[in-house]
Amino acid sequence: MDTTKKNNPVYSNTDKTKVELPEEEWKKILPGDVYHIARQKGTERPWTSKFENSKDIGTYYCAACGNALFKSDTKFESGCGWPSFYEPISKESVIYTSDNAYGMKRTEVQCGRCNAHLGHVFEDGPKPTGLRYCINGVVLDFEKAKEAEEKYNAKEE
Ligand SMILES: [Zn+2]
Repeated sequence: MDTTKKNNPVYSNTDKTKVELPEEEWKKILPGDVYHIARQKGTERPWTSKFENSKDIGTYYCAACGNALFKSDTKFESGCGWPSFYEPISKESVIYTSDNAYGMKRTEVQCGRCNAHLGHVFEDGPKPTGLRYCINGVVLDFEKAKEAEEKYNAKEE
């Protein structure tokens, strides 16, 4: 676990309990760039995320609370400049809110555990869902699939 998590008491990859904290508290425990996007609905500049072109196998978690959000096998190259996925890990992983800011009708995607702003979902994605979850890389934590898991999966094929 990297050092930015040290001061975050709610961060967990396994705890599914909803997280509700006052904004001042989030401000204290989140790194500045994560806070800006997760809590102030900011947007990172396109083509700046290290995850944008990543093909590593593993799981993407919410950088604010550790909630599991997306698996690498649902990630695809959308060419939009942000990490894109066609399906969240489970129905509870994310929540949806309509966002009419800036004169656009969009659907905002938030973390299902801590309500962090993640990005938006559009209906021009690939099969099987036809959806494109366009997600800010700053609010994603990535963990590579453990070697043991990879071996296990290889055996099944
Ligand atoms: Zn979260």
